[in-house]
Amino acid sequence: NGIQLENLVRLSKIGAGNSGTVVKTLHVPDSRIIAKKTIPVENKEVLKNQLVRELTIMKNVSAHDNIVGFYGAFYNPSTTNEIVILMEYMDCGSLDKILSVYRSDCHRKNVSISCKTSWFNEMPLSRISFCVLNGLIYLYDCYKIIHRDIKPSNILINSKGDVKICDFGVSTTLINSLADTFVGTSTYMSPERIQGGRYTTKGDVWSLGLMIIELSSGEFPLGGHHDTPEGILDLLQRIVNEPAPKLSKNEHYSIEMTDFVNRCCIKEERGRSSLKELICHDFICKYNNRDTIAKEFRHWCKKVKKRIKEDKMIRREETERSKI
Ligand code: ATP
Ligand code: MG
Repeated sequence: NGIQLENLVRLSKIGAGNSGTVVKTLHVPDSRIIAKKTIPVENKEVLKNQLVRELTIMKNVSAHDNIVGFYGAFYNPSTTNEIVILMEYMDCGSLDKILSVYRSDCHRKNVSISCKTSWFNEMPLSRISFCVLNGLIYLYDCYKIIHRDIKPSNILINSKGDVKICDFGVSTTLINSLADTFVGTSTYMSPERIQGGRYTTKGDVWSLGLMIIELSSGEFPLGGHHDTPEGILDLLQRIVNEPAPKLSKNEHYSIEMTDFVNRCCIKEERGRSSLKELICHDFICKYNNRDTIAKEFRHWCKKVKKRIKEDKMIRREETERSKI
């Protein structure tokens, strides 16, 4: 069952973040599509061996419906300065990608992003929240792992209707070897984390709340895009100093969803709801207790996948046309 690097063929680049690059890859012996993530690390033998050892426990951890499948970690002897992580390929991609396709779709149709027509209406948001909470509870209860980086790009979806989380803090060596860069600073960080306080699973609850506001409104709360380090630092300061973000009052959200988000986005950690309180919340039960939810959500995912394909084609046509 082990995958060997020499049996992999590169298909296309999926994306890149602060810490690495993800490539869609074919595993030739069984024609399986997988995602290959490459992370540059310091070229020290001890460090790399330690890293691979720590990442290998991911194999056990990933045996859960809401954790992205893990096929192995290597350090690439031919390039010497990178770690390779092989994981399950999720064909609808991450929530940030889906949101950006939705935004372009609205832009082309010249309609505003409102909650009534949003792809991210309450059913998918309730389902996504349930799956994220379920995955986080499993990570903490079974492995005492706190995710630390919940954000749209780390929540992956496939057309079978699965929602899975990835990129959690399993390896302290990896976290430390990335720590001296700007990596690890995220605008989804809770106020206590920004202030250097203690970090518990409630930090992930805060991030989940922000993510729901962003997906339902189409925009990151507390304003705009933050591409420069100065912009991000300014935003982090506002998260600490200003009142907690809320769902917009101008849109109609249900009482259940509004209350759920309010309980996630409580600035003081002690007052914030816990993972286990939230998974029993009415907003989760309202949809996830229906026996049709899995089917409804699978249907939603299939539709999203179709839209992603259409978006790709339109973009291709647009670039072709701009060449003429
Ligand atoms: P950051 O580095 O700030 O955490 P990121 O999460 O976007 O940002 P990566 O984790 O390197 O960065 O992932 C890059 C992109 O690859 C993601 O945005 C996601 O869309 C895509 N991706 C990652 N893993 C998978 C996967 N298993 N299947 C499909 N797409 C994936
Ligand atoms: Mg990621």
